[in-house]
Amino acid sequence: MQKDLFEAPDYYNIDDLLLEEHKLVRDAARQWVKRSVSPIIEEHAQKATFPKEILGGLAEIGAFGPYIPEKYGGAGLDHISYGLIMQEIERGDSGIRSTASVQSSLVMYPIFTYGNEAQRTKYLPKLASGELIGCFGLTEPNHGSNPSGMETKYKDMGDHYLLNGAKLWISNAPFADIAIVWAKNEEDRIHGLIVERGMEGFSTPTTHNKWSLRASATGELIFDNVKVPKENILLGKTGLGAPLGCLDSARFGIAWGAIGAAMDCYDTALRYAKERVQFGKPIAATQLQQKKLAEMVTEITKAQLLALRLGQLKNNDKATSAQISMAKRNNVDMALKIAREARQVLGAMGITGEFSIMRHMMNLESVITYEGTHDIHLLITGADITGFSAFQ
Ligand SMILES: Cc1cc2nc3c(=O)[nH]c(=O)nc-3n(C[C@H](O)[C@H](O)[C@H](O)COP(=O)(O)OP(=O)(O)OC[C@H]3O[C@@H](n4cnc5c(N)ncnc54)[C@H](O)[C@@H]3O)c2cc1C
Repeated sequence: MQKDLFEAPDYYNIDDLLLEEHKLVRDAARQWVKRSVSPIIEEHAQKATFPKEILGGLAEIGAFGPYIPEKYGGAGLDHISYGLIMQEIERGDSGIRSTASVQSSLVMYPIFTYGNEAQRTKYLPKLASGELIGCFGLTEPNHGSNPSGMETKYKDMGDHYLLNGAKLWISNAPFADIAIVWAKNEEDRIHGLIVERGMEGFSTPTTHNKWSLRASATGELIFDNVKVPKENILLGKTGLGAPLGCLDSARFGIAWGAIGAAMDCYDTALRYAKERVQFGKPIAATQLQQKKLAEMVTEITKAQLLALRLGQLKNNDKATSAQISMAKRNNVDMALKIAREARQVLGAMGITGEFSIMRHMMNLESVITYEGTHDIHLLITGADITGFSAFQ
């Protein structure tokens, strides 16, 4: 792969709106990605392996629980910092950002928010340091966009819970130490359970043959009469709102992360267009390539402003689920379109692993589907503005 020469576009001087703390956190993550992700990511993506060697680095830049209080090992940062860290990691690769998102928003968040003090102190510091890695099991073979129909069940056996069922498409599953599993009790009420690797009847087969997020490990969670200790239930919130609260946090991070992938594609295409000469002049001097590049930077700028405003709302606890949906949908769609256009700017070179664009493009096909599909987020906005749900 080419040397990482990335320079971030900031066409509207959005840096002026950030605090010094934001810029410090962002720049540390940016340097770490250049140093530790860019040199190895292409090979891992080609081989479909997750680079476990970067887990310690992710912890060091505060990517595991950026907004979890320092008391529990988190970085104690605000949500804009969280977003900026996700942006920088996804600039490197969406699969690496997925691991950080899952750990922070889908594992640490529910333990912090719905767990008790014993659960927080037992798990959060080890998750923050990367000593433990977690995954989040909501999606099932028969229930993706509609998780309320989940079939995974747990039964109160007196001194423990008995868990049965299966989850599919679970990021980090093949190597996770713990899983936050959403299951229904006998009254059909949804709760989160902390399931630990090694519990009898719990297995995590790997999902193979992905063309997307190849540097992220995806798998299944199978529960065959798993005895879950009673102290492993998250009692702070019940019902579908509990996993959806986690998804709000993760989707917020994705809205920022996608900007990173888009910035990398734009920056790569701009540099290439200036250097590549055809018909006696750089292709950057042609109107058609300028149209592509000008539209890319316009869309990135709009997405940056959307994410920043969402971050301000989130910092004030005012960001609604529907607002987060809109930003996730818009920014991922924006990034995917930019990746496709940027790929064309590079001609044949765009399909190779010499450049990051094709990898971003393939990755974003997962990002536009997971954490709520592109269509489902549109329906969330539709329901919010009209008052009518078109889901059923
Ligand atoms: C790489 C990867 C990693 C993932 N990681 C995780 C993870 O860590 N944890 C986890 O729990 N899940 C994870 N997922 C699962 C992901 O969240 C689901 O794939 C997603 O929610 C969509 O579900 P589905 O694939 O079953 O699609 P379906 O729900 O079957 O949808 C298929 C199509 O129908 C559309 N559709 C569905 N309902 C409607 C409707 N009412 N009206 C109009 N259109 C509709 C959808 O928009 C979509 O286009 C991951 C997925 C991928 C690809």
